[in-house]
Amino acid sequence: MKQLKERILSDGKCFPGGILKVDNFINHQMDPCLMREMAKELAKRFEDHSINKVITIEASGIAPAIMVGDYLNVPVLFAKKKSPSTMENMLVTEVFSFTKNRTYSVCVSGDYLTREDRVLFIDDFLANGNAALGILDLVEQAGARLEGMGFLIEKGFQSGGAELRGRGIHIESLAIIESLDDCVIKLR
Ligand code: 5GP
Repeated sequence: MKQLKERILSDGKCFPGGILKVDNFINHQMDPCLMREMAKELAKRFEDHSINKVITIEASGIAPAIMVGDYLNVPVLFAKKKSPSTMENMLVTEVFSFTKNRTYSVCVSGDYLTREDRVLFIDDFLANGNAALGILDLVEQAGARLEGMGFLIEKGFQSGGAELRGRGIHIESLAIIESLDDCVIKLR
């Protein structure tokens, strides 16, 4: 998506270890106009699927997910990183965080993810695919069906894209980073 690619090149910053910082329009300060356009594009790319729920993981997936949910006119469920003592019928999985270099549990209530659900996973980044695989596990535990996964930015030099596409999952990414070598942002 042209608008996003231009914004990554103008405002994105590289950090050692292959981290792309997009804090001034996605991950800290957010640009709602760009977010709306990105959500519209993702919703369009999945319009042939019959999706009845969008799912994401807190915190950075929530903003794009809620806008995609708005376009698709379906509820948006976010997996929580802390399990509330009040959560009923809890489904739990483990996710390794690429940016924080640690494993954490995420949970959703089985009251909101059921075998009736055909879900679209939305997240800001696809790197090694750990968050995506955690969500897939929750979807399978619930007996729901995964219709696809949409990302704002895919890091094409990490393994997640190939792993998920290899499983036959419909993956859409609005911008793919070819490399961040020498802290230069190269787009595919
Ligand atoms: P994965 O689970 O695919 O390995 O990593 C995806 C998650 O890690 C995303 O939810 C995102 O929050 C975070 N992440 C991975 N790589 C980057 C990056 O280069 N920049 C930022 N801002 N977040 C990233």
